[in-house]
Amino acid sequence: MASQTHQEMLQKYAEAIVKVGLNLRAGQRLIITLMATRGVPLQFAPLVREVSKAAYGVGAKYVEVLWGDEEMLRLRAQYAPKDSFDEYPTHTIDAIMNMINNGDALLSISGANPDLMGGLDPEIVGKMQTKHLNVASKVTEKVTTNAINWCVVAAAGEAWAQKVFPDLAPEKAQEKLWKAIFETSRIDQPDPVAAWKKHIDSMKERAKYMQSKQFTALHYKADGTDFTLGLPYGHRWISAQSMAQNGVAFTANMPTEEVFTLPDRNRADGVVTSTFPLSYGGTLIEDFQVTFENGRITKVTAKKGEAALQKLVDTDEGSHRLGEVALVPASSPIAQRGHLFYNTLFDENASCHIAIGRAYRFTLTGGEELNDEEFVSAGGNVSLNHVDFMIGSPKMDIDGIHKDGTREPVMRQGEWAIKL
Ligand code: ZN
Ligand code: ZN
Repeated sequence: MASQTHQEMLQKYAEAIVKVGLNLRAGQRLIITLMATRGVPLQFAPLVREVSKAAYGVGAKYVEVLWGDEEMLRLRAQYAPKDSFDEYPTHTIDAIMNMINNGDALLSISGANPDLMGGLDPEIVGKMQTKHLNVASKVTEKVTTNAINWCVVAAAGEAWAQKVFPDLAPEKAQEKLWKAIFETSRIDQPDPVAAWKKHIDSMKERAKYMQSKQFTALHYKADGTDFTLGLPYGHRWISAQSMAQNGVAFTANMPTEEVFTLPDRNRADGVVTSTFPLSYGGTLIEDFQVTFENGRITKVTAKKGEAALQKLVDTDEGSHRLGEVALVPASSPIAQRGHLFYNTLFDENASCHIAIGRAYRFTLTGGEELNDEEFVSAGGNVSLNHVDFMIGSPKMDIDGIHKDGTREPVMRQGEWAIKL
């Protein structure tokens, strides 16, 4: 078979995004954006156009795109007056809120420069990030309660590709990153939509099994990690597919290899060591350790980006605690690629991870109906942040702990110890 052109692959990708990721319904409207950089960079226009075609193809009423330019963020951090970082025109957030309140679907395209703010004053970068999180929290709340069908996908941005494949010429690096995106998102398969259906079914089986176990805690053991994490009563294990409050079953991340649930915000004890670097607010944080006591982060250290990590934790009380626990085998197709992506959408699907900050309401039975206070007293976490960081490796063992204290292997040497 002749190899498919980039354009043909983009078309197949767009179709999978619309039919599986968003599961866009006829008559729905769609908004496309990239929250972190306040809009989709123009370099992603070819993908945006294909997604729009596919969206109209399934009967979308209207497709709106919020464009942006990430360089504007860096420029501002460099040149704007020091006392000006409270400015934040809200019309972009208002536009997104307007569409969410109308029941429209939301697509976020990830792929910005993971090192955008590298070398800049962490104080200013932290301020900009916190202000952004504050203004955007309305949207985050809608998304984390699955108010509408939403999806995050990636596009091979130029700077990002260069970060992943530093030894290649820019064009080659981008080509190779696109190939990785297509393969990990099953777009290279003869029928990507059917391949996704099969994948979703097998992930569901895994989540169902974990659900049936009703563990009250997980214990993690690996080099530099000795960590116990509580799972609250009513936690729900979730995988590839979720149900939105507007009644649409959607797949929030493409790719996705994780099975995840709600950790108890008050029960995390011990030390975890990161196994992947973390890109947060345009700063790369590397080789770090986080210490917990009674659910709360008491200490962070990092070889690189420690100030940014401390800023992240200091954002609010909830950023001292966890909001997600996810299990991913070390042999996941993304881990097997053998390189870092410097992008959470990919790296989180290569490794077991936990998230600092806000928990997803839908990971608690009935969580969508609770207010913040009720959610917190049920063990859920509330925060401006939700930042996944990777702790899994082929050396990690995880035990599930039952109510009576008995233990059961969940993962051994980074792989599922549970045969389905
Ligand atoms: Zn996750
Ligand atoms: Zn997460």
